[in-house]
Amino acid sequence: MSSYNLGFPGKIIFGDGVADYLPGELPPVARVLLAVGRHAATSGLAARLERLLKNFRLITFCGVPAEAPLSAVDDIIRQGRTKKVSAVVAAGGGSVIDAAKAAAGLIPLDGETADYFYSRKTIPGKGLFFAALPTTAGTGAEATPNAVLTDPETEIKKSLRHPALLADLAIIDPELTYSCPDQLTAHSGFDALTQAIESYLSRKANTVSGALAARAVPLIFNALPKACADPANRQARRELAEGSMITALAFAQSGLGAVHGLAHPLGSKLHVAHGLCCAILLPLILRRNQAVCSAALDELAAACGCADGSGFIGRIEQLGKTLGIPGNFRKFGFSPEIFPFVLKNCRSGSMNSNPRRFEDAEILEILETLL
Ligand SMILES: [Zn+2]
Repeated sequence: MSSYNLGFPGKIIFGDGVADYLPGELPPVARVLLAVGRHAATSGLAARLERLLKNFRLITFCGVPAEAPLSAVDDIIRQGRTKKVSAVVAAGGGSVIDAAKAAAGLIPLDGETADYFYSRKTIPGKGLFFAALPTTAGTGAEATPNAVLTDPETEIKKSLRHPALLADLAIIDPELTYSCPDQLTAHSGFDALTQAIESYLSRKANTVSGALAARAVPLIFNALPKACADPANRQARRELAEGSMITALAFAQSGLGAVHGLAHPLGSKLHVAHGLCCAILLPLILRRNQAVCSAALDELAAACGCADGSGFIGRIEQLGKTLGIPGNFRKFGFSPEIFPFVLKNCRSGSMNSNPRRFEDAEILEILETLL
């Protein structure tokens, strides 16, 4: 693509220990709402951030359920409006960051999250100052202008998107990921790998997103098995955190692909973690995409030390097996009754960015193989 419009977080700080820079980077005399996940509350991270922010008037919001339900965003918004906060800081996985990101955008407005999620109201522009500190290496939520949210009533999972939702500050401190549980490291790492590959192959890729994704794919591909084999391997975890960040900067520009198009309705309906959904779908979708993007896949393969695109897909499949990723959704109660829901809800922006179009009949064929 020869013309493009790039959007990145206002400031990005990366490195071991850089979480300590947080207070110096916030606007002065702000009343801050700190949103943290449950793990941050028990691991001591929440207490550490509260100490760092001791000179600010601080409200701590703890515990956003997985897949960021609209009600969690409403809870943060209510606190923010009542206490008149002027900045939001999120420290956690993708759900925490996305819920807090949406809240930072909506606190100064009226109405509830569902109004904006279902486009009954539109976001007019910039909300509150927003800072994100990821504690997993995978989602990239710290660098994207969208919040992936779920409505448990309708089981719809999709993005609330607006350029103004981009974080003012993204602090990626790999040390925050060192206590991440093994399974979460594997699943979020697979999410990052999927996002990097889908960004590279995207129909909406541009020169900048392509350069970023080309660097991120081998970084994650090499670091993920090492970080999972030895959780104490800090070098691998640092590379995973850096690869995830670079990936997010890429796919925020390029969009994703059919893995993400299908992962959202499947994950929402079957209650399967997002990264795990991506890991199950990735080799399958790559094989179906291969005919239209074999040169690009060969480029990624070469960067990862594989002979060709087919060898690359095979290595990804093998990595999934090593990390305990099943080959289908059978054990999650997947059945043909769910097919119409997936079909109806998979036609997102991600599906449109996929290098080739999947007709409904082919999607049904794919779903059949996942039973
Ligand atoms: Zn993802």
